[in-house]
Amino acid sequence: MLELRPGCECCDKDLPPDSTEARICSFECTFCASCADTVLGGTCPNCGGELVARPRRPANNPPSTTRIYNPAGCGKRS
Ligand SMILES: [Zn+2]
Ligand SMILES: [Zn+2]
Repeated sequence: MLELRPGCECCDKDLPPDSTEARICSFECTFCASCADTVLGGTCPNCGGELVARPRRPANNPPSTTRIYNPAGCGKRS
């Protein structure tokens, strides 16, 4: 089962389970649409995999609460 992480690794934007903006790679590295498209060019910075739209999950199945925030990993300096 997908972990459905709650936020973007790049900018820490909230990505709730029913968000249409979430993008994931096959390892479930999770990013928002704007980071995936503009900063990352559709490629996961952690594993080099393809970033695709994350399937949405109905509210009766709780998502992960493990928030991963790693702006350095996606080439941002802050
Ligand atoms: Zn983001
Ligand atoms: Zn990845």
